[in-house]
Amino acid sequence: MPRVIPAEAMAFLAGALDEGAMVGIRVTGVDPTHQGPRVRFEVLLMRRRRGDTKRLPDRATIAELVSRMVAIRWRDSPVPREIPETHQMDLAASHPVVIGDFTETGPGWHWLLSAAAGWIEETGVPAGFRSNQVKEKFGTLRWYCSAAEDEDRLQAGRIVQAAEWVSGAVCETCGAPGRARPGGWMRTACDAHAKRR
Ligand SMILES: [Zn+2]
Repeated sequence: MPRVIPAEAMAFLAGALDEGAMVGIRVTGVDPTHQGPRVRFEVLLMRRRRGDTKRLPDRATIAELVSRMVAIRWRDSPVPREIPETHQMDLAASHPVVIGDFTETGPGWHWLLSAAAGWIEETGVPAGFRSNQVKEKFGTLRWYCSAAEDEDRLQAGRIVQAAEWVSGAVCETCGAPGRARPGGWMRTACDAHAKRR
């Protein structure tokens, strides 16, 4: 198993979380699976400091989503797979309930959205779940969805929120690790795509 895969997974995770939120996270291995190479993260529980009212990211869900996204990106391929040109159509067709309509996001978030939608389907799509809009705003993903129950309390809601966090670390053009690039309009890009604008 090439070492580049766990290194890439750590790069995505470090980009999604800030430095403080990376404390107590490490890679313990990579498992070959039918979904692709699955990076195993160990995520120690982080205790909130007294008086700290800042909302903490859901690190376990974010790490699991990064692992699933990296697996799809490298499935049966020695290099990251190419993103299909028909990415919006493919997502809508492969995940008719969870994604539904065409997304308004760039090709680079294809594996991220595929991983998130696939995981929601695996855990069981909540009653009445629908995506009202999947778009980019200020460089990161906005995935507006609703369900019969309050979606924040559902696993599907946690996965959607994790996808929004992770998007800040994924180049919206090519899917490689990236970061927020301020400018005329904020976007998330890898080094190569930050230059070409
Ligand atoms: Zn890129």
